[in-house]
Formats: sequence, structure tokens, C-alpha cells
Amino acid sequence: MSETRSEISQLGEFGLIDRIQEKFALVNPTSLQGIGDDAAVIDAGDDCVLISTDMLVEGIHFDLAYVPIQHLGYKAVAVNVSDIAAMNGIAEQITVSIAISNRFSIEAIDALYAGIKAACENYKVDLVGGDTTSSAGGLIISIAVIGRANKDQIAYRSGAQVNDIICATGDLGAAFLGLQVLAREKEVYLTNPDMQPSIEKYEYLVGRQLKPEARTDIIFDLREAGIKPSSMIDISDGLASELFHIAKNSGVGVRIYDDKIPIDHIAYETAIEFKLDPITCALNGGEDYELLFTIAQADQEKIKNHPDIHFIGYVHDNKSQNVLITKEGNVVPLKAQGWDHFKS
Ligand code: ADP
Ligand code: MG
Repeated sequence: MSETRSEISQLGEFGLIDRIQEKFALVNPTSLQGIGDDAAVIDAGDDCVLISTDMLVEGIHFDLAYVPIQHLGYKAVAVNVSDIAAMNGIAEQITVSIAISNRFSIEAIDALYAGIKAACENYKVDLVGGDTTSSAGGLIISIAVIGRANKDQIAYRSGAQVNDIICATGDLGAAFLGLQVLAREKEVYLTNPDMQPSIEKYEYLVGRQLKPEARTDIIFDLREAGIKPSSMIDISDGLASELFHIAKNSGVGVRIYDDKIPIDHIAYETAIEFKLDPITCALNGGEDYELLFTIAQADQEKIKNHPDIHFIGYVHDNKSQNVLITKEGNVVPLKAQGWDHFKS
């Protein structure tokens, strides 16, 4: 046994995943895409099966002091369906595994599964299995999702081409600001339990944090418009981090414009209230579960009037230059903070 002990924090989450990936070469010809995209891609004839999994851990991903357990169930499904959408695919089945302690009542588990069921109905996915075990304390929910897409339709992180237009859906930064609001209200409540939380003004932001939606609707809209994105990823860690994934995997660089980044006006105002830069919240906040994708310039016309797709920049050939261009014309290197659980 080696005496050395190395800290995981040296690697970070992505470094650790790379380290795992290096040790596992794919041996089956049906394994078209392994580690490294939003979902794995398995050859199943004309269609491909898409598989992804995501785990939510109490105390790390959620705090039951302000997250209703029913919403947690919904969110756990939505974030998985989002990873299938990020491959330009449609989710069809999920399995749900939970670890619970006797801290949780039957009613609490019923509420969790009521949320899971609402999401299954909304996204038309079937719950087909799972696993149940005990935990020493906190709640852990691990969901695996199975989806489908035609082989030619699948959008990988690696397909962005020079001159492609970079698109982002919905608006960004709101989920992160919703979390800031919830954390502040929890503090207020802890200091004075008689105070009622005042979140009406922030309803949209809190909703974005507690009950995100997977953008399966965008996948159907793109199909209808006859567009196959050249690359795609969902925005779970923050726009900047996801842009880096696309740039790195595609061997290209990205240029985005700060005034094109979609930010909701309540998110904007709340960022200022919290003394945060709204653009930074959109770039690094995370948990928006919107889609980030690239399209050929020729396709832009087909979706130019889509109310929820925003053209935020373009792909260029200098892979060492991933930049944000400000309204004033300044060129600022993008920084991908993302959520790196192993770093402080
Ligand atoms: P996403 O944010 O889209 O859920 P992640 O950043 O969690 O993706 O994961 C990136 C890639 O690494 C995915 O292909 C995922 O399946 C893979 N991955 C993550 N953790 C592990 C692990 N412990 N072992 C093997 N593969 C992993
Ligand atoms: Mg993803």
C-alpha cells in the first residue's frame, strides 16, 4: 500500500472524472459515446439509446429547510430529462434510487414520489425501477434516465463548427439568485422564527431554483424548424462552464456578447440588490437547466423569431480564445467557475 495521500481538491470534479475516464477504454462497438457528454450513447439499430444519471445529496444539493420535498422529487427528474434533451433526444424511462433514514416519514416519501410522478407525467416518462436503502442521516436521490434519438439527430458537445451561431434558451442566473433569496430568508427565520418569509417579489427566482424545467419543448421546436444543432449541452453548472465544455470538446473558441445574454428583469434587479453582477450570475450561477447549442449560420433564419432562443455569440477558430465582449467593446477572457464541489 502506498503511503501517499493526495487531496481530491487538487483535481476538482472535472479532473477527477478525467482521471476515471483514462482508466476505462470502451470495448463494445455499441458504446458510441462513453464518459464526457450529457448522456452516454448506445447503438441500438437506427435509433440510439441515451443514458444519464444524476444524484442529489441532502446538505450538498438541497436543504430541506427551504426545499419542499415534493419539489425535490420533481427537480430530480427534470435535471435528468434535461441531460437527454441536451443530446437532442427524448427521455422515455427513469429509475429512482433513494437512501433514507428514519428521520423521514411515510408522508415525506409520499410527497417525494408525488413530485416524481408529476414530472413523469409532464415529461411523459415511465418510472421503471430503482433501489431503496437506508442512510445514516441525510436523503440521497439518484435517478437514471433512458432516452432515445435517431443516430443522425444526436447533438454532441464536440460538434461545434467555426462560424456557427451560439444559442441559449430561456433566461440565465435566476435559479442562482433564487437560491440566494432562499438562503437569506432561512437566516432571517433562524434569527427570528416569528418573521414570515417574504418571497412574493422573488417568486419567479425561487420557482426557477425549486422547480426547474427540462427544455424538451425546444427539442421539438428545433425538429419542427428542421434544425439539428451542431453541438449542445444543458446549462447545469453555469453558461461559462458549459461554453468551455463545448469549446474544448469541439476544438474551437467561443465569443459571446454580454448584452445578448438573456437575463430576466427580476433577476437583474435582485442581483443588484445582493450586490452581485447580473452578468456574473448568468455566467456562473448554474442550475438554470436551459439549453446551450450551436447552429450553422444558414439555420438562424429558421428560428430567428423564436421567443425563447437567444443568439449570444459565435464560434471561431482560435481555441485559446474564449471571450466575452462587453457593450463598451472590451474583450474579457471567460472564466469557468461552475459548481466545483471539491473546491472551496
Ligand atoms: P452533467 O453536468 O451533464 O450531468 P457531469 O459533469 O455530471 O455531466 O458528468 C460529465 C461526464 O462524466 C458524464 O459523461 C458523466 O456520465 C461522467 N461521470 C461523472 N461522474 C462519473 C463517475 N463517477 N464515473 C464515471 N463517469 C462519470
Ligand atoms: Mg448536462
